[in-house]
Amino acid sequence: MIKLVADLHTHTNVSHHAYSSLEEMVQGAKRAGLDAIAITNHAPSMADGAHQWHFSNLNIVPRKIDGICVIRGIEMNIMPPNGTTDPMEERHFKHLDYVIASFHEVCFPPVNSEVHTKALENILRIPYVNTLGHLGNQNYEFDQERIISQCNEFGKIVEINNNSLAIRKGSKENCTSIAKLCMKYRVPIVVTSDSHISFMVGKTDSALSMLEEIGFPEELIINADFDRLNNYFKKIRGIDLYEFEEGKA
Ligand SMILES: [Zn+2]
Ligand SMILES: [Zn+2]
Repeated sequence: MIKLVADLHTHTNVSHHAYSSLEEMVQGAKRAGLDAIAITNHAPSMADGAHQWHFSNLNIVPRKIDGICVIRGIEMNIMPPNGTTDPMEERHFKHLDYVIASFHEVCFPPVNSEVHTKALENILRIPYVNTLGHLGNQNYEFDQERIISQCNEFGKIVEINNNSLAIRKGSKENCTSIAKLCMKYRVPIVVTSDSHISFMVGKTDSALSMLEEIGFPEELIINADFDRLNNYFKKIRGIDLYEFEEGKA
């Protein structure tokens, strides 16, 4: 049985469609038996996304709260027509450890596979993006083989998002074929809850059982082992989670 040590996609109530404070999300991570949580609020192009100041001020958030490591993240929007991200000034990125880029219907109305694939190819080339978020959304068909096969070249990882698996009919098929391609091309993944309330933090059963069904190799799941998670953040951000101190920002 795969066990996760961190949830790397969560939202706090800086967005009106999410309901818990940062402290409550951390408590949710603790209840779920995790060691780390990434707070990844929606970037400003989302109708109720966080203001860019939310991100530039993340350096006041303690690195460890009640024993849980807190990773400073953002979920950026893939923007039309060509696959840029939200227009944000450079200085607001300074304190971000982790950047997800995802399609959202309100920011990028679905077009067709060709357009989505082109947008993702541009996203692959944006250096500050770490992760392709909830790629399994069936409203955004894309050439899966073409994108997944290039992820390692551009240092991108793939998110298997429990929320899409659980709420969207048809996305299980997509998530499964994406995961199989990650196996084929040895692309590391993260398994996340995309929780918008503290009670959902760490809830990833649907995603994990799909991965077990297809025999997905545990060593490719970045957030299934703390050392592996730490090595990843050392590599992309130069931070050492073992050095995070309780209550210290
Ligand atoms: Zn949201
Ligand atoms: Zn999203």
